Amino acid sequence: MRVMLLGAPGSGKGTQAAVLKGLYGIPHISTGDILRAELARGTELGKKAGSYMNGGGLVPDDVILELIETRLGEPDARRGWLLDGFPRTLVQAHGLVELTDRIGQAVDAGLILHVDPEVVVQRLSGRRGCGKCQKVTNVAEAVSGACPNCGGPLVLREDDRPEVVRTRIQVFEQQTRPVFELFRGRYALYDIDASKTPEQVTEAIRKALGKHE
Ligand code: AMP
Repeated sequence: MRVMLLGAPGSGKGTQAAVLKGLYGIPHISTGDILRAELARGTELGKKAGSYMNGGGLVPDDVILELIETRLGEPDARRGWLLDGFPRTLVQAHGLVELTDRIGQAVDAGLILHVDPEVVVQRLSGRRGCGKCQKVTNVAEAVSGACPNCGGPLVLREDDRPEVVRTRIQVFEQQTRPVFELFRGRYALYDIDASKTPEQVTEAIRKALGKHE
């Protein structure tokens, strides 16, 4: 199964991807995760990407398209994939269509996670990542102020600071939303209400993807 998880920052793409990856046995390909790993390793790509990411802007399309082409060429991607956070611009969307045609890996479905901007700001201001095991959690769940999974230190993502979140929402509205309209006539797209609980959202996604299993 080849699926795109589309939606605003904070709509729960990463949370759902972690569950769906296990359910369908396909790799979770998050451009944001790949870029953060490069940034943490201090590579040239990471340094270049970091300057865009920390301000809430998008990393240039050519960098992203190259990264995706490399990743979809890896052996585990033959089983299928779950794209998270890509494509985010019309150029990337056209690039994905061209790439999937060329390598013969057609997209089966796209899931659009819908959530109000106020909910996004609220969710992201409370989101924390564990500095040790990388688990993403919310301050409300971490009663002791430490990671509920391993007790490690919780850190606020640089781009989850409120002023950066506002920029990310604007970028989403201007650059990413047009991708949905482009894809509506091309792929099976499913509108999912992502303001519900994670379990309810997973259920709605499973129902939509049932037609593609
Ligand atoms: P995410 O974890 O998906 O929210 O991505 C974090 C940041 O990484 C974004 O705000 C962008 O700066 C960058 N990024 C991730 N995916 C893309 C993409 N497809 N195109 C451009 N920039 C991206």
